[in-house]
Amino acid sequence: MTVLTEQSEKTQCWFCGSENAAEAQFCEACGKLQPSAPLDYFQFFGLPRRLQLDRVALEKQFYRLSRKLHPDVYARASAQEQQWSLEKSSLLNDAWRTLRDPLARTEYVLELEDIRLEEQSRDATDAAAASGTAKEQIVPPDLLEEVFELNMQLEEMRMAHASGENDPELQGNLEAAKQNFNAQLIAAEQQLQALWSEWDEAADANNPAAKQTAQQKMVDLLNRRSYIRNLVRDVQEVLGS
Ligand SMILES: [Zn+2]
Repeated sequence: MTVLTEQSEKTQCWFCGSENAAEAQFCEACGKLQPSAPLDYFQFFGLPRRLQLDRVALEKQFYRLSRKLHPDVYARASAQEQQWSLEKSSLLNDAWRTLRDPLARTEYVLELEDIRLEEQSRDATDAAAASGTAKEQIVPPDLLEEVFELNMQLEEMRMAHASGENDPELQGNLEAAKQNFNAQLIAAEQQLQALWSEWDEAADANNPAAKQTAQQKMVDLLNRRSYIRNLVRDVQEVLGS
Protein backbone atom coordinates (compact mmCIF):
# COMPACT_ATOMS: atom_id res chain seq x y z
CA MET A 1 0.00 0.00 0.00
CA THR A 2 1.47 3.35 -1.12
CA VAL A 3 -0.45 5.22 1.57
CA LEU A 4 1.37 3.30 4.31
CA THR A 5 4.85 3.89 2.90
CA GLU A 6 4.03 7.58 2.39
CA GLN A 7 3.18 7.89 6.06
CA SER A 8 5.63 5.47 7.66
CA GLU A 9 8.17 8.04 8.91
CA LYS A 10 8.22 8.62 12.66
CA THR A 11 9.32 11.47 14.90
CA GLN A 12 9.71 11.75 18.66
CA CYS A 13 7.56 14.10 20.70
CA TRP A 14 9.69 17.05 21.92
CA PHE A 15 7.82 16.92 25.27
CA CYS A 16 7.28 13.28 26.31
CA GLY A 17 9.52 11.43 23.81
CA SER A 18 6.74 9.20 22.43
CA GLU A 19 6.89 8.15 18.77
CA ASN A 20 4.40 9.80 16.42
CA ALA A 21 3.82 9.77 12.67
CA ALA A 22 5.98 12.48 11.05
CA GLU A 23 2.91 14.38 9.85
CA ALA A 24 1.15 14.33 13.26
CA GLN A 25 0.23 17.83 14.46
CA PHE A 26 -0.25 16.65 18.06
CA CYS A 27 1.45 13.98 20.17
CA GLU A 28 -0.76 10.91 20.47
CA ALA A 29 0.45 10.29 24.03
CA CYS A 30 0.53 13.75 25.66
CA GLY A 31 -1.46 15.85 23.17
CA LYS A 32 1.24 18.57 22.87
CA LEU A 33 1.54 20.55 19.64
CA GLN A 34 4.44 19.23 17.53
CA PRO A 35 7.09 21.28 15.65
CA SER A 36 6.35 22.54 12.15
CA ALA A 37 7.57 19.90 9.71
CA PRO A 38 7.97 20.40 5.95
CA LEU A 39 4.64 18.84 4.94
CA ASP A 40 2.69 19.19 1.75
CA TYR A 41 -0.97 20.18 2.00
CA PHE A 42 -2.22 16.59 1.78
CA GLN A 43 0.13 15.42 4.52
CA PHE A 44 -0.89 18.39 6.63
CA PHE A 45 -4.51 17.27 6.43
CA GLY A 46 -3.53 13.62 6.95
CA LEU A 47 -4.92 12.75 3.51
CA PRO A 48 -3.39 10.63 0.73
CA ARG A 49 -2.27 12.61 -2.34
CA ARG A 50 -5.30 12.08 -4.55
CA LEU A 51 -7.26 14.39 -6.85
CA GLN A 52 -10.70 13.11 -5.91
CA LEU A 53 -11.30 14.43 -2.42
CA ASP A 54 -14.05 13.85 0.08
CA ARG A 55 -15.15 17.47 0.36
CA VAL A 56 -17.12 16.89 3.59
CA ALA A 57 -14.23 15.09 5.30
CA LEU A 58 -11.85 17.85 4.20
CA GLU A 59 -14.13 20.54 5.61
CA LYS A 60 -14.57 18.72 8.93
CA GLN A 61 -10.83 18.26 9.26
CA PHE A 62 -10.28 21.96 8.43
CA TYR A 63 -12.63 23.17 11.18
CA ARG A 64 -11.25 20.63 13.67
CA LEU A 65 -7.66 21.70 12.98
CA SER A 66 -8.42 25.43 12.94
CA ARG A 67 -9.94 25.17 16.43
CA LYS A 68 -7.09 23.07 17.79
CA LEU A 69 -4.29 25.12 16.17
CA HIS A 70 -5.76 28.53 16.90
CA PRO A 71 -3.14 30.91 18.42
CA ASP A 72 -5.60 31.87 21.23
CA VAL A 73 -5.37 28.30 22.53
CA TYR A 74 -1.61 28.84 23.05
CA ALA A 75 -1.81 32.24 24.73
CA ARG A 76 -0.23 30.79 27.89
CA ALA A 77 2.03 28.22 26.18
CA SER A 78 5.78 28.58 25.52
CA ALA A 79 6.98 31.05 22.89
CA GLN A 80 8.03 28.08 20.77
CA GLU A 81 4.53 26.53 20.81
CA GLN A 82 2.98 29.93 20.06
CA GLN A 83 5.26 30.20 17.04
CA TRP A 84 4.28 26.70 15.81
CA SER A 85 0.60 27.44 16.21
CA LEU A 86 0.97 30.60 14.11
CA GLU A 87 2.93 28.79 11.41
CA LYS A 88 0.53 25.87 11.33
CA SER A 89 -2.58 28.07 11.27
CA SER A 90 -1.23 29.93 8.29
CA LEU A 91 -0.29 26.68 6.50
CA LEU A 92 -3.74 25.31 7.31
CA ASN A 93 -5.44 28.26 5.59
CA ASP A 94 -3.24 27.96 2.50
CA ALA A 95 -3.85 24.20 2.35
CA TRP A 96 -7.62 24.65 2.75
CA ARG A 97 -7.86 27.31 0.03
CA THR A 98 -5.88 25.14 -2.39
CA LEU A 99 -7.39 21.72 -1.74
CA ARG A 100 -11.04 22.75 -1.68
CA ASP A 101 -10.77 24.40 -5.13
CA PRO A 102 -10.82 21.76 -7.92
CA LEU A 103 -8.56 23.69 -10.30
CA ALA A 104 -6.13 24.91 -7.65
CA ARG A 105 -5.94 21.35 -6.32
CA THR A 106 -5.16 19.97 -9.78
CA GLU A 107 -2.45 22.56 -10.38
CA TYR A 108 -1.03 21.89 -6.91
CA VAL A 109 -0.80 18.13 -7.49
CA LEU A 110 0.90 18.75 -10.85
CA GLU A 111 3.36 21.03 -9.06
CA LEU A 112 4.04 18.33 -6.42
CA GLU A 113 4.72 15.98 -9.32
CA ASP A 114 7.30 18.51 -10.61
CA ILE A 115 5.22 19.86 -13.46
CA ARG A 116 5.33 23.64 -13.65
CA LEU A 117 2.39 25.02 -15.56
CA GLU A 118 4.09 28.45 -15.77
CA GLU A 119 6.98 26.88 -17.64
CA GLN A 120 4.54 25.14 -19.90
CA SER A 121 2.94 28.42 -20.82
CA ARG A 122 6.31 30.15 -21.12
CA ASP A 123 7.36 27.50 -23.63
CA ALA A 124 4.13 28.12 -25.45
CA THR A 125 4.80 31.87 -25.50
CA ASP A 126 8.34 31.41 -26.80
CA ALA A 127 7.15 29.06 -29.51
CA ALA A 128 4.45 31.51 -30.53
CA ALA A 129 6.98 34.35 -30.64
CA ALA A 130 9.39 32.24 -32.72
CA SER A 131 6.68 31.43 -35.24
CA GLY A 132 5.82 35.12 -35.52
CA THR A 133 2.31 34.91 -34.10
CA ALA A 134 1.24 37.56 -31.62
CA LYS A 135 -0.92 35.22 -29.49
CA GLU A 136 0.34 34.50 -25.98
CA GLN A 137 -0.48 30.79 -26.18
CA ILE A 138 -0.44 28.15 -28.87
CA VAL A 139 -3.87 27.63 -30.41
CA PRO A 140 -5.16 24.11 -29.68
CA PRO A 141 -5.00 22.51 -33.17
CA ASP A 142 -8.69 21.55 -33.29
CA LEU A 143 -9.66 25.19 -32.60
CA LEU A 144 -7.48 26.76 -35.32
CA GLU A 145 -10.30 27.34 -37.78
CA GLU A 146 -12.78 28.59 -35.19
CA VAL A 147 -10.23 30.98 -33.71
CA PHE A 148 -9.27 32.33 -37.13
CA GLU A 149 -12.95 32.98 -37.91
CA LEU A 150 -13.54 34.49 -34.47
CA ASN A 151 -10.62 36.90 -34.75
CA MET A 152 -11.93 38.16 -38.09
CA GLN A 153 -15.37 38.74 -36.56
CA LEU A 154 -13.89 40.48 -33.54
CA GLU A 155 -11.88 42.77 -35.80
CA GLU A 156 -14.98 43.53 -37.87
CA MET A 157 -16.97 44.29 -34.73
CA ARG A 158 -14.27 46.63 -33.39
CA MET A 159 -14.29 48.51 -36.69
CA ALA A 160 -18.09 48.70 -36.65
CA HIS A 161 -17.99 50.11 -33.12
CA ALA A 162 -15.30 52.60 -34.09
CA SER A 163 -17.43 53.97 -36.92
CA GLY A 164 -20.58 53.94 -34.78
CA GLU A 165 -22.34 51.27 -36.87
CA ASN A 166 -24.66 48.54 -35.68
CA ASP A 167 -24.33 45.02 -37.05
CA PRO A 168 -26.98 42.75 -35.47
CA GLU A 169 -25.93 39.71 -37.50
CA LEU A 170 -22.32 40.01 -36.44
CA GLN A 171 -23.42 40.62 -32.87
CA GLY A 172 -25.52 37.42 -33.02
CA ASN A 173 -22.57 35.45 -34.41
CA LEU A 174 -20.32 36.63 -31.62
CA GLU A 175 -22.89 35.81 -28.95
CA ALA A 176 -23.25 32.32 -30.44
CA ALA A 177 -19.46 31.92 -30.42
CA LYS A 178 -19.33 32.96 -26.77
CA GLN A 179 -21.98 30.38 -25.86
CA ASN A 180 -20.13 27.72 -27.79
CA PHE A 181 -16.86 28.45 -25.99
CA ASN A 182 -18.60 28.53 -22.62
CA ALA A 183 -20.02 25.08 -23.37
CA GLN A 184 -16.48 23.92 -24.21
CA LEU A 185 -15.30 25.21 -20.81
CA ILE A 186 -17.93 23.11 -19.05
CA ALA A 187 -16.93 20.10 -21.16
CA ALA A 188 -13.27 20.67 -20.19
CA GLU A 189 -14.20 20.56 -16.51
CA GLN A 190 -15.98 17.25 -17.01
CA GLN A 191 -12.97 15.87 -18.88
CA LEU A 192 -10.75 17.01 -16.03
CA GLN A 193 -12.79 15.02 -13.52
CA ALA A 194 -12.37 11.91 -15.67
CA LEU A 195 -8.61 12.52 -15.64
CA TRP A 196 -8.68 12.79 -11.84
CA SER A 197 -9.93 9.22 -11.55
CA GLU A 198 -7.41 8.09 -14.16
CA TRP A 199 -4.59 9.68 -12.15
CA ASP A 200 -5.89 8.45 -8.78
CA GLU A 201 -6.14 4.89 -10.08
CA ALA A 202 -2.57 5.10 -11.39
CA ALA A 203 -1.46 6.43 -7.98
CA ASP A 204 -3.33 3.62 -6.16
CA ALA A 205 -1.65 1.07 -8.44
CA ASN A 206 1.73 2.82 -7.97
CA ASN A 207 2.11 3.05 -11.75
CA PRO A 208 4.38 6.02 -12.64
CA ALA A 209 3.94 5.64 -16.42
CA ALA A 210 0.13 5.78 -16.17
CA LYS A 211 0.42 8.75 -13.79
CA GLN A 212 2.58 10.61 -16.30
CA THR A 213 0.15 9.91 -19.12
CA ALA A 214 -2.73 11.31 -17.06
CA GLN A 215 -0.60 14.31 -16.00
CA GLN A 216 0.26 15.22 -19.58
CA LYS A 217 -3.44 15.05 -20.50
CA MET A 218 -4.25 17.33 -17.55
CA VAL A 219 -1.61 19.87 -18.61
CA ASP A 220 -2.98 19.91 -22.17
CA LEU A 221 -6.52 20.26 -20.86
CA LEU A 222 -5.63 23.10 -18.47
CA ASN A 223 -3.79 24.94 -21.24
CA ARG A 224 -6.77 24.46 -23.54
CA ARG A 225 -9.11 25.67 -20.81
CA SER A 226 -7.13 28.84 -20.16
CA TYR A 227 -6.88 29.48 -23.91
CA ILE A 228 -10.67 29.23 -24.28
CA ARG A 229 -11.19 31.42 -21.22
CA ASN A 230 -9.11 34.13 -22.87
CA LEU A 231 -11.24 33.82 -26.02
CA VAL A 232 -14.44 34.24 -23.99
CA ARG A 233 -12.90 37.29 -22.32
CA ASP A 234 -11.98 38.81 -25.73
CA VAL A 235 -15.50 38.27 -27.05
CA GLN A 236 -17.01 39.68 -23.87
CA GLU A 237 -14.83 42.79 -24.15
CA VAL A 238 -15.93 43.46 -27.72
CA LEU A 239 -19.63 42.72 -27.03
CA GLY A 240 -19.59 44.88 -23.92
CA SER A 241 -17.98 47.91 -25.51
ZN1 LIG B 1 4.13 13.79 23.75
